[in-house]
Amino acid sequence: MPSANHAAGRPRRVALLGSTGSIGTSCLDVIDSLPEQLEAFGLCAHTRWEALLEQAHKFRPRFVAAMTSEAARQMAGKLPPDCQLLIGEEGLAELVAQPEVDVVLAAVVGAAGLTGTWLALEAGKTVAVANKETLVMAGPLVMDLAMRRGARVLPVDSEHSAIFQAMQAGSPADVRRVVLTASGGPFRGKKQADLENVSVEEALRHPTWRMGPKITVDSATLMNKALEVIEARWLFGLSPDQIDVIIHPESIVHSFVEFKDGSVLAQLSPPDMRLPIQYALLYPERVEGPARRLDWSELSTLTFEQPDAQTFPALELGYEVARRGGTCGAVLNAANETAVSRFLAGELGFLDIPRVCRAVLDEHPYSARPTLSELHALDRWARQEVLRWTRTNLCSVTA
Ligand code: MG
Repeated sequence: MPSANHAAGRPRRVALLGSTGSIGTSCLDVIDSLPEQLEAFGLCAHTRWEALLEQAHKFRPRFVAAMTSEAARQMAGKLPPDCQLLIGEEGLAELVAQPEVDVVLAAVVGAAGLTGTWLALEAGKTVAVANKETLVMAGPLVMDLAMRRGARVLPVDSEHSAIFQAMQAGSPADVRRVVLTASGGPFRGKKQADLENVSVEEALRHPTWRMGPKITVDSATLMNKALEVIEARWLFGLSPDQIDVIIHPESIVHSFVEFKDGSVLAQLSPPDMRLPIQYALLYPERVEGPARRLDWSELSTLTFEQPDAQTFPALELGYEVARRGGTCGAVLNAANETAVSRFLAGELGFLDIPRVCRAVLDEHPYSARPTLSELHALDRWARQEVLRWTRTNLCSVTA
């Protein structure tokens, strides 16, 4: 139990995977604000080794894991004296399995985040999962591993944190449905015809949240909400028809839980990831932290509307994948990741993102009970399919 650490008179020790990204830096901000409660025990980043080095000097972790040998070569000899450099996947495994680690924050973006979460769960650790792609890709396998190892998966995604917090008011069997809120992104109210030629810059202009580029594009297509439907399905063991989505442009209500007696509980706060990060790291404790607070003198109207499934077909893809399960999540996730990267590179149009995801999902060899290595293989296959689709598409445009 987390409180045991405090009883032992020391902060909770955090292994932070993906320390230089948007969630990683927010996590370090939380740790910096709560030195009595939290300690950066290990840091790991994939490519930005200079930022990682700077973090190591500021937070003085016991371990730093570099995922590439190039990053390790660059950092060698430049770390603080009592900080050990670990390298590659083996180093990552060593870091998360350290007996002193109390909680692992998995904040690596995309399918690449699965490895760290998997290794940490294998080591029986509590994992705060900020990487929804892990649960989208391999939800049943991940939850099963956690159960077998007696490890705990705690949500960091703001909607799932809200659901998790509201669920404390009853027993899981008493939950009738959950309602995920969505800001609607920068293109709320638009129709398909308006979106054919939107630029990368327009898609990256999120109205309420400041996040990395991948998730910001996902918010614009509503693919982010589709992935969150799948994430909620596996994380909370809900059936897809118990999960609703509602558009809430203010991003103040982070989700609702409806219990069978008709009571609906919600969690509200300004859009600031430091709160769900802190809640997951210190669960079940609540302390004063750095997250922004609701200003009740400024709060006036909270609005809600139904999502536009015609304009944002990604949402329906999410429900379909949540219903079919099996290999679908890994395929949708990989197709979407690659489509978003091609959109950011100017090679695909905005509306092509759900189109190519639909095409690759329909083509893939479905299986209901895949192994982890089958999911990895399909992940690679789906990426190639999107690249092939993109090339064909480019040819037809330039012809
Ligand atoms: Mg979210």
